[in-house]
Amino acid sequence: ELPTIYCVTPTYARPHQKAELTRLSHIFMLLPNLHWVIVEDSETKTNLVRNLLERAGLTQRSTQLNVKTPTAFKLKHNDPNWIKPRGVEQRNLALSWIRTNADAEKHNIVFFMDDDNSYSVELFAEMSKIEPGRVGVWPVGLVGGLMVEKPLLNQETNLVEGFNAAWRPERPFPIDMAGFAISTELLFKYPEAAFSYEVQRGYQESEILRHLTTRSQLQPLANNCRDVLVWHTRTEKTKLTNEEALNKQGKKSDE
Ligand code: UDP
Ligand code: MN
Repeated sequence: ELPTIYCVTPTYARPHQKAELTRLSHIFMLLPNLHWVIVEDSETKTNLVRNLLERAGLTQRSTQLNVKTPTAFKLKHNDPNWIKPRGVEQRNLALSWIRTNADAEKHNIVFFMDDDNSYSVELFAEMSKIEPGRVGVWPVGLVGGLMVEKPLLNQETNLVEGFNAAWRPERPFPIDMAGFAISTELLFKYPEAAFSYEVQRGYQESEILRHLTTRSQLQPLANNCRDVLVWHTRTEKTKLTNEEALNKQGKKSDE
């Protein structure tokens, strides 16, 4: 029996939100062992997300949550390296939902699946190979100023002995959110493991992983970290100048 893979997606309203979520929903339609924990950065659960899940036939295999990123969240004035982290509040709410609702006796997986990346269905077959109590890792394309950011393996042992990251390589785990997944056993074993506002840019991954694993305990996947099965794509901001002109006349193109 395949482990359930809880895919945690923070998401927020913008013109292309529905397009992003529709694209992601097709992964879930193809893979019955996934459960989508979709967390809206919003004061309410929206009909857009509810209807999308329903139309994709995912109502039973998804959980719709919401928590708004506090607008009052302030950066520290004297530290120019601090920027607003994205998805912290939402991912932490999902972690607490998983700790409450997942079966602690079963071997399951948690993956942090941002809504704008591009995922191969093959990636999820790789995640299913994660051993109980371990963190699986693999390469991520188009991130950190490189074509591929990836773990580097020892030639003899095939264990992770480093990373090829060029951006902030001094991070404890210089990998992207899309480059790892976690055995749920670790979430129950280390209840304090979470994301935090109190870390520098690029340190969210290290912030949770430092509680859960060491570099050498990481489980390399995707053909010993040679295959790229996920890409950190980003969607450009939609230009709506003509729509705004319409709105001024009291009209909308999508009514
Ligand atoms: N996100 C969010 N609220 C925000 C900004 C982002 O919930 O105010 C979500 C977004 O939908 C995505 C994740 O957080 O699933 C990461 O955001 P983004 O893709 O903008 O980050 P980047 O790719 O630049 O690291
Ligand atoms: Mn992104």
